Amino acid sequence: MSGPKVRASLSGIPAYTPGRPPAAREGGAAYKLSSNETPYDPLPSVRSVIDAEAAQVNRYPDMACSALYTAISERFSLPVTALAAGTGSVAVLYHLIQALCEPGDEVVYAWRSFEAYPIAIVASGARPVAVPLGDGARHDLDAMAAAITDRTRVVMVCTPNNPTGPVVRADELETFLDRVPADVLVVVDEAYAEFVRDEAAADGFAAFGSRDNVAVLRTFSKAYGLAGLRVGYAVAPESVAAAVRKVALPFGVSGIAQAAAVASLDPVAERELMDRVDALVAERERVVGGLTEAGWSVPATEANFVWLPLDGRGQATDFAVAADEAGITVRPFADHGVRVTIAEPVANDIFMKVASNQN
Ligand SMILES: *Cc1c(COP(=O)(O)O)cnc(C)c1O
Repeated sequence: MSGPKVRASLSGIPAYTPGRPPAAREGGAAYKLSSNETPYDPLPSVRSVIDAEAAQVNRYPDMACSALYTAISERFSLPVTALAAGTGSVAVLYHLIQALCEPGDEVVYAWRSFEAYPIAIVASGARPVAVPLGDGARHDLDAMAAAITDRTRVVMVCTPNNPTGPVVRADELETFLDRVPADVLVVVDEAYAEFVRDEAAADGFAAFGSRDNVAVLRTFSKAYGLAGLRVGYAVAPESVAAAVRKVALPFGVSGIAQAAAVASLDPVAERELMDRVDALVAERERVVGGLTEAGWSVPATEANFVWLPLDGRGQATDFAVAADEAGITVRPFADHGVRVTIAEPVANDIFMKVASNQN
């Protein structure tokens, strides 16, 4: 066969399975608990900024993301030169790998973790090195350190880990960082940082501040409720941040996304958003309590979702079907388990009922 040839390595890319929207059903609302989105509508103050910005979409956005970088820098006391934004933190991850890896260089990550990792790694021409999770569905940082070779350029640390929920502790991260060579970048993915209540949890910004080879990924998609606008960022050593900005798509982050993110960092807006996060955290504790009472043993979650380990054949799929019938859509990972987003109380109630019946 002749014709255009795609890179052979792409055949190894697993497909990304997005969380399905709820199936249409007769009688009663259906709730989407499959993508870790916030159930809350955008804040009115953010909506009005989005509407105003919509009037200018005949213009390209600010390619330098100046207002956004200033807002992030002021909010988190970070140097502007350390920032690199993208169309979601997943896009920033692609840019990071492109910026750091020659073809065949290795990226170490835990598995099961965020399903975008192996896709981003292979798509960027690097080699994925997956290290199985340890006890409690937590990162096995000893094994990850041992997996580093002289081809390793990046190590991903996802905390809290999607889809299982546990955090990496600060002391564990320190011990791990002591073992990582200085020329390997450790990327701490903190997509769910705002939901963490464990005081022993690692703090990516603190690690970034005390080391020269740590980057942090943050997003406006989860706690800030802007998943549909696609905006996230890296906080990285200056040379890395500059390289990420260099390979990023020009004008990638829309003006609407930039303005909405800035508006979400306004102190009053952010307080409202973090109150919502508090409410979701309270729901998380209620759900975990209910699941435990029903006999489930779930990994300690510090995120806006819980993981039900289901090892048997087809159990995850069966659970998802039962959930669909009850009016909630969850995210099954065939033969591994089911991830369920914490949402509005009425949806969480349905989830707990399905879980009790399925155990
Ligand atoms: C949701 C999520 C992200 C953020 O994705 P965006 O591209 O910013 O929407 C990043 N990492 C993990 C582990 C996630 O679960």
